[in-house]
Parts: sequence; structure tokens; C-alpha cells
Amino acid sequence: MRYGVYLHIPFCRKKCAYCDFPSQVGTKAAMADYTAALCREIRARGPEIAAYGPGATAYIGGGTPTALPISLLSRILLTLKAVLPFSPEAEVTVEVNPGTVDLETLTALHTLGVTRLSVGAQSFEDRLLARIGRIHTAQAIRDTVRWARAAGFTDVSLDLMYGLPGQTIEDVRRSVETAIDLAPTHISVYGLTVEEGTPFAAEEAAGTLRLPAEEDTEAMYDYLTRILPRYGFARYEIANFARPGFMSRHNLSYWTDVPYAGFGAAAHSYWDGRRMVNEPDIAAYIDAVQSGRFPAREEEPATRKNQMEEFCFLALRTARGLSRAKFAAKFGCSLDSVYHATLQDLRAKGLLEEAADSVRLTERGMKFGNVAFRAFLLDGER
Ligand code: SF4
Repeated sequence: MRYGVYLHIPFCRKKCAYCDFPSQVGTKAAMADYTAALCREIRARGPEIAAYGPGATAYIGGGTPTALPISLLSRILLTLKAVLPFSPEAEVTVEVNPGTVDLETLTALHTLGVTRLSVGAQSFEDRLLARIGRIHTAQAIRDTVRWARAAGFTDVSLDLMYGLPGQTIEDVRRSVETAIDLAPTHISVYGLTVEEGTPFAAEEAAGTLRLPAEEDTEAMYDYLTRILPRYGFARYEIANFARPGFMSRHNLSYWTDVPYAGFGAAAHSYWDGRRMVNEPDIAAYIDAVQSGRFPAREEEPATRKNQMEEFCFLALRTARGLSRAKFAAKFGCSLDSVYHATLQDLRAKGLLEEAADSVRLTERGMKFGNVAFRAFLLDGER
């Protein structure tokens, strides 16, 4: 059975001003305790998962996995490999933030079997990096990519952000050009959203957060989604662009109904059609694992209606779109019997198009994804 594994590392050197991900600044002792608990969880739950055969993908994300000392990160990767063997062609990604790695760390990760790095660049403008609370400069991003190559990595992804306070379309252009010069295999683009409880939310409430005008943010989005394919990065998901053969197989599994097992605080799992989430509080997670308690709780079982909606939302994020055959195989009824009017309406609005046996969002549909996704919400049970 094809499946993926996710490991969550909930530590960062410093919290960014926009971030509401489950992560915090950690002490060395907390990181060591967390690593011990995570390895214990992998050893406890891993064999049951390994019984399904070798894993196809692993993703170590956060937080900032490289906020951990390499000795701890190595222990986690070695435990993972010992308990859960991966196929020889498995994709093993580690999220890396500039300013937390050097050539030695990246060489160690490569030696440990990591095949792909996802680098949190966000922008190549130092004033914007400082404004959003990143710990690094543009030069640190360049150094990270240079060291990654020297360490032997050929698959390197860069994250870029748009809609940042004080950002102009010219800033976005310069960042894209600098990113392209670094020859990544994959680029993800994210628009800033102001999340509750973050420093940016407090600034917004105080009236001091100066975001670009809506039409400028839209121009940044239009520019990014137009220019990246011209540079040879095909858009394979709403926010993701890749050179041929370099789509993130792990992330694709989230959108295409492939099971995955998550380990660590706040990690999600999707296994046997059930969704589970681990205890999010780091201390409570460590406590639970240390006392031999399984730190996951099952999320409210999804109704058939919710499963249909979610299946559609996720598949529609991808350029391949929503397969009629897969929908029918999963739910025992045709897509058109459930969504006939929705499909017709979205096609008429230019948000959806037919492609072989599937329907997919048009460029316009991807831009106004929320409108399209809302239309897939169903009334009543199925
Ligand atoms: S490095 Fe990433 S996870 Fe950590 S605070 Fe910044 S955005 Fe959040």
C-alpha cells in the first residue's frame, strides 16, 4: 500500500510575525525531551505501519526541523529508517530555514538519506525579511542553496510570499528573478494571511499593519502564476510549481487521498479512512508518550457528505483535477449525480473545465478557489 509519513518538529529559533503554526522557541532540554518522545512514538506505532510495506514519502516539517541540533535530528532520522523502511526511490524531505544550517548540517542530512530540501526563503528583500520577523537575510538563503548543492542535493524547493507589508510588485519581481538564478526544482508561493493571535493580528487591530492594496496583491499573484510557468515551472497545485519530474510527491498525497501517518505533537494522520490528530501541546505530548499513552485522538468521524466535499476540495487544488472514476470508486455513485448543477454553474462562470475523465479548475478558478470550493458544499446528508 502506498503511504507517506510526516514528522512534526515544533521548534523555531524565533516566531515570525505572521505565523500561527504549532511551533515555539525551545530550550535545549525541551528539544532533547521532545526528540526522545518522538523516537519513542515512532518505535511504538511504526511497526504497525511498516507492516503495510515500505513508505513512499517522508516529510519532516515544522516549525523548523533544523532548529534542532543535528545530533537530535540525526537520531530522529535514524530511528525512522530503522523502524519504517522506505523504498529506494522514496522522497524524503526536510524543511530548512536559512540561518539555521551550514554545509556540515546539510551534508549530514544528505548522508542520512534525505533527498529533498524545502527552503523557507519567503523574499530576497532584507527589509521585508526583517519586517515579517524572519531570522535570516537574502544572503543566508543564497548560502543555504549553495551549501545544499555542495552537500549533494539536486532537489531543492523555495517558498516565496506575497502580499507582505511594504512589499511592491517590483520586490516580487526581483525575488522571483533571484530565486530563478538559484535554479531550484520547485517553488511554492503563499499569500500572507493575517492569522488570529499573531503579532500581525495585533498590529492590524491597532491599525499599524500597512498591507499592499488589494489590487497590488492581486497583481503580485497574477505575476507569479504567469511568470513561473514561463520559467519552466508547471503549476501542479494552487500554490505549487515544479520543473518536470520534481512535484512534491508527499504533498500530492495529501490532495489525492493517499494515507499518511503523522508523528509528533500536533501531527495529523489519515489512515484507514480515519483522521487522527496528536496532542498539540508539547509538554502534554511528551508526558503522554513517556507514560506509554498513545497521544492521538480521533477527529470527529466525517459524515459521507463531508467526505465527498473534502475529496472534491482536495482534488480540485491540483492541476489534474477531480477524477470522475476515482469519485465513483470511492463513493459508489457518479460525480455528476451529486454535483450536476454545481459543475454546470462553475463551467458557465469559467471557473471549471472538463479534462478527459476529470473536471479541473481553470486559471480563473484557481484564483477564485474559495468561490469554487464553496460551491462544492452539499445541502443535507448523502
Ligand atoms: S520559521 Fe516557519 S514555523 Fe517557524 S515561526 Fe517562522 S513561519 Fe512559523
